[in-house]
Amino acid sequence: MRDDGPVLIAGAGPVGLFCALLLGRCGLRVRVFETWASPQEDPRAATTHPATLELLADAGLVEDVTRVGLVAPTFQFWDRPTGTLVAEFDHAVLKDDTRYPFVVQCEQFKTATLILQRLRNLPNVEIFFEHEVVDVSQTDRSVSVRVRSPAGLATHDGLYVIGADGGRSTVRKRTGIAFDGFTWPERFIVLTTTYDFEAGRGYCPRSYLADPQEWCNCFKVSANGPPGLWRTVFPTSPDVADEELLSDEAVQARLQNFFPSSTPYEIVHRNLYVTHQRVASTFRRGRVLLAGDAAHVNNPIGGMGLNGGIQDAANLSEKLTAILLDGSSDRELDLYDRQRRTVALEFVQQQTIENKKRLEARDPETRAKNLGELRDIAADPARARQFLLRTSMITSQRRAAAIR
Ligand SMILES: Cc1cc2nc3c(=O)[nH]c(=O)nc-3n(C[C@H](O)[C@H](O)[C@H](O)COP(=O)(O)OP(=O)(O)OC[C@H]3O[C@@H](n4cnc5c(N)ncnc54)[C@H](O)[C@@H]3O)c2cc1C
Repeated sequence: MRDDGPVLIAGAGPVGLFCALLLGRCGLRVRVFETWASPQEDPRAATTHPATLELLADAGLVEDVTRVGLVAPTFQFWDRPTGTLVAEFDHAVLKDDTRYPFVVQCEQFKTATLILQRLRNLPNVEIFFEHEVVDVSQTDRSVSVRVRSPAGLATHDGLYVIGADGGRSTVRKRTGIAFDGFTWPERFIVLTTTYDFEAGRGYCPRSYLADPQEWCNCFKVSANGPPGLWRTVFPTSPDVADEELLSDEAVQARLQNFFPSSTPYEIVHRNLYVTHQRVASTFRRGRVLLAGDAAHVNNPIGGMGLNGGIQDAANLSEKLTAILLDGSSDRELDLYDRQRRTVALEFVQQQTIENKKRLEARDPETRAKNLGELRDIAADPARARQFLLRTSMITSQRRAAAIR
């Protein structure tokens, strides 16, 4: 075992923390640097797919994630203009494919907090909040990060660095790794409300609404316990300023237009997100590794970004552990790049773009074809199983494992 330095991790988001847990519990020394003073609580990922639940189970997290989240066995597609339920899919058809034939809606800051609690019991893992990584360099034998904290600038040396520092990754930029792809012109607005769309409208906790004018995703999260909250996600016009989109008047009008209510909506959060489809040109350069949003970003329809990041973390940590503890060749890290980058490109990018196109299609014939196809798949158990294997990311995990 090489014990001449820690593995350095930039970013204490869920992906960086999950890497720290998987490496730390094997006894490896780990040092995590995070810009902010604590995990970020903005309303981003919640949907945790079966393939990811398998990995969380292996790390002893699945019971807690399920306890603080909400089990969602089904998801629905609706035709918004006519208010018709087009198709409902039940993960029960995956009962022979996974121990977890359901999704858990668990807000990402809760997952991050559960991991942090476990890390506090590992003396070999150090977490430095309010420490921003500002530069990275490497030699054949080691890597260094330059870190800015309230105490000033300092350099930390290690064996490898994992850039888990999100879509704007400093590690990726300072290593000169391109982030190819594109940015959608429209931003997505997330409006979280106490209104119960299940009681009021019959939506299940994961409901996708196709609409040529304004598609919508409507999700339930458990928040601080029953009755939970509902998050609605809509596209916004690129021509309208942030203040206008986020004003009380505009968010009420948007929700009233979505579902008229005799009383104003109680809005708990309102957030705007720029959305990209991008994949790093490599997930490995020497001793620098990328994982999670630092390596790939996509639109959130289908809930695949963080799931893919957790899957990166599990794949990468297994390989780093084999290298550092069992003397495996560091060519394993090239395999990490091949496996995870291939599925990011072939699967997550393709699937999330397709998901968005399906919801926003304008041409009546294309819409009828898309919705008819969903109806046919839902009505055929064999096709429904194949569809759910993809949406729950089991197909992509199998594809990655088959790459050598
Ligand atoms: C509206 C919305 C809904 C979503 N829903 C889902 C969903 O349901 N399911 C799903 O799988 N995905 C979803 N996603 C995507 C998901 O939120 C991201 O994929 C996820 O946050 C990626 O985790 P991460 O740890 O890689 O990055 P982040 O969560 O971005 O964490 C990166 C961390 O690094 C820190 N950091 C950044 N730069 C530095 C630096 N230089 N030094 C030190 N620290 C640094 C940041 O402060 C942050 O804490 C959604 C996204 C959005 C916008």
